Amino acid sequence: MPEPLTPGALLALDRQHVWHPYGPMPGKAAPLLVESASGVRLRLAEPVEGRDELVDGMSSWWSAVHGYNHPVLNDAAHGQLERMSHVMFGGLTHEPAVRLAKRLVDLTPEPLQHVFLADSGSVSVEVAVKMCLQYWRSLGKPRKQRLLTWRGGYHGDTWQPMSVCDPDGGMHELWQGVLPRQIFADAPPPGFDAAPDEAYAAQLRELIGRHAEELAAVIVEPVVQGAGGMSFHSPGYLRVLREACDAHDVLLVFDEIATGFGRTGALFAADHAGVAPDVMCLGKALTGGYLTLAATLCTTAVADGISRGALPVLAHGPTFMGNPLAAAVADASISVLLSQDWGQEVKRIEAGLRDGLAPAAGIAGVREVRVLGAIGVVQLDHEVDMAAASRAAVREGVWLRPFRDLIYTMPPYITGDEDVARICAAVCAAAREG
Ligand SMILES: *Cc1c(COP(=O)(O)O)cnc(C)c1O
Repeated sequence: MPEPLTPGALLALDRQHVWHPYGPMPGKAAPLLVESASGVRLRLAEPVEGRDELVDGMSSWWSAVHGYNHPVLNDAAHGQLERMSHVMFGGLTHEPAVRLAKRLVDLTPEPLQHVFLADSGSVSVEVAVKMCLQYWRSLGKPRKQRLLTWRGGYHGDTWQPMSVCDPDGGMHELWQGVLPRQIFADAPPPGFDAAPDEAYAAQLRELIGRHAEELAAVIVEPVVQGAGGMSFHSPGYLRVLREACDAHDVLLVFDEIATGFGRTGALFAADHAGVAPDVMCLGKALTGGYLTLAATLCTTAVADGISRGALPVLAHGPTFMGNPLAAAVADASISVLLSQDWGQEVKRIEAGLRDGLAPAAGIAGVREVRVLGAIGVVQLDHEVDMAAASRAAVREGVWLRPFRDLIYTMPPYITGDEDVARICAAVCAAAREG
């Protein structure tokens, strides 16, 4: 074993050498040092604001839906580790990947039949885009290479995904001339329960029709736009997109990396609309937050198109494609999800969030409070003071990571009612102080 390092030494080395998400170098705010995690609790290496344990309101960026240190997921990881943690996927295959692929095909909308296992959400979006462009190339329509999306989206941090992120939040100004130039509709009118706005639907139809010759695909996050602004829209717009894409020979991609596996109250957000995309991306909660893994699913029409082209292969193959350890844990995580009444658990958390966040509407500086499934959002009328808001949450014994004008929670589905209430109290405290 290497020499143990004190928390102070670790934080000093971290500051000196380690990049953190969306951070400068050296980092501005000291991160919290986590020693271990169990259930819905993160254990800190040293107390902060008098707390050495925090209830996790973030599910580690929406992935740890069953909480930490879960016995079934641990068993799956241990068992697979003893067989093999990885083998290459070129020319070889293995049970964890095959089982998981079959599982995903069975759970997702029926037309999705083929699975590409990628190593992160962003890569799965790259693969989705490559599938769509290559499909049209194979069909002799190489001009169809642009993408259409709506504003307010987030699809990852590599180049193609960045090009379809919200142009403002995604800093497109900075990347002018570098990012592929895509086509943007306005952000969908807000409100999950709001009746679809006919003028907006007409805008979607018009843009898709006008650009059909150069459009490979429409790509959107269905129902919930996550990191782009935590907003909810009517599933009706997904039906509008499906019809317009069919009418104009454009593929439809749903990025369900944030919404998949029950978060919005449906197993997949597409299920709210009863719409099947041509390509679907999954990630985040796929492994229950244990390991990095994502998947791109496509229809047989897309797969056939690619496989009959001049280059009759899907030209993509990451080194760690189909990683057995991650695939085995993903399969176990899906088993855990389906072995319980997950819909009831998400409803229970939804009710707890509605109750607990209602008082936030009365706090000065709060613009809106919204809840859908196991997602609770408090939107401010100003940029949040991240340091002050995080400190307020930690003082309440809760881990939150606000951004822009948003203080939000996506708790693990196993979060008990008392802990949901505690998370809500922390969101309110953060809204008051942030
Ligand atoms: C997080 C996210 C991604 C990117 O996934 P990474 O694993 O972080 O690369 C893409 N799309 C959506 C909707 C996401 O929420």
